[in-house]
Amino acid sequence: MIPVLIVLNAGSSSLKFQVYDTPDSAEPRLVWKGLYEGLGGAAHFVVRHAGGADLDERLWTSGEEFGHEEALIHLISWLREHQEGRKLAAIGHRVVHGGQSFSGPVLVDDSVVQALEALVPLAPLHQPHNLEPIRIVRRRLPGMPQVACFDTAFHQTQSDIATLFALPREMRDRGVRRYGFHGLSYDYISSVLKDYGPRLAKGRVIVAHLGNGASLCALNNGASVATTMGFSALDGLPMGTRCGAVDAGVIFFMLREMRLSPEEAESVLYKKSGLLGVSGISNDMRVLRSKAATDVNARRAIDLFVYRITREIGSLVAALGGLDGLVFTAGIGENDAATRAEVIKGLGWAGLTLDEAANHNAGPRISLGSGPTAWVIPTNEELVIARQTRGVLGDMRSKLAS
Ligand code: AMP
Repeated sequence: MIPVLIVLNAGSSSLKFQVYDTPDSAEPRLVWKGLYEGLGGAAHFVVRHAGGADLDERLWTSGEEFGHEEALIHLISWLREHQEGRKLAAIGHRVVHGGQSFSGPVLVDDSVVQALEALVPLAPLHQPHNLEPIRIVRRRLPGMPQVACFDTAFHQTQSDIATLFALPREMRDRGVRRYGFHGLSYDYISSVLKDYGPRLAKGRVIVAHLGNGASLCALNNGASVATTMGFSALDGLPMGTRCGAVDAGVIFFMLREMRLSPEEAESVLYKKSGLLGVSGISNDMRVLRSKAATDVNARRAIDLFVYRITREIGSLVAALGGLDGLVFTAGIGENDAATRAEVIKGLGWAGLTLDEAANHNAGPRISLGSGPTAWVIPTNEELVIARQTRGVLGDMRSKLAS
């Protein structure tokens, strides 16, 4: 029997999963990946082979009450039907917030669940969805080892000063500090930098995770020293629908003058801002690129996105005391050559020179000359969760026996 583990990434109406073989000491090996969408309504299940070829698909009608619990039950039974010589040994979860106490992945037990529930106020729009499948598995498959892997943990190497807000001291004691997110993505990029050269692995590198969520992380010798996201996943760069950094005074204006409730203000900042809010068209970079030549608002949204990335890179270069490399990753970073070109052209002062042809072909190296180098490196957050889950549990075969 080959032990397998499932990696889960749960959202409000979606459940992404990947299934990994975890033989002995080798790197976890992806077997299948898939997604449930439209949970709570007309749900859709699709699963593909690791190489991308379609394997199976199913649709439910909206009257069937198909939510996260039903999706997990369906996934477990789908796995049993298809596993052939494999057996489920553990489940690894993406959990957005590990707070101050979790500086690495952790085996879930009663006290961990309690501690993670206490962090819901720090990430109210993400943490509850991440915790739901953990609770469902504890109920439905008691004894199944589960590991929580955190987006915040990678940033625990940052200095006290880098994580401090200039607020009264008692607020820090309440957990109001910069945490940083996208840590699973930065962990993956940090782990592969050695494949792109020792200067990157040992040097001062800025990673631009540019997807629907977007942030930058400054790495020194592979460890996080600063990042653009702070207390919540709202801070830093403009994103698909999130505002990025805004003056806190704007929020008082929304509450007092515009008379929005805290929930309405939160919804504006998380769901109606960023590329969507500025363009008034879409949060999807592909759509904005297709309209940018003719639509002034699409162009402004992209220009603001690029401007903020370039400015924040300047700030992180200062935090690092120089720059050896810049890495682009995630949906926009990996696929949108125009965004990469516009950012690099704004960084000539830092010694970066764009290699147009390489950028067009997505690199991996997209810079010329002997100065800092620029790269395109696809991220793999799920593999990090698989690695961390295996790392916490040790010998996966022994989990089959128990
Ligand atoms: P992610 O959250 O990492 O899946 O990234 C989603 C973002 O990547 C969306 O804004 C997409 O428009 C963008 N994206 C994906 N593929 C492309 C592409 N080929 N060109 C430009 N943007 C893309």
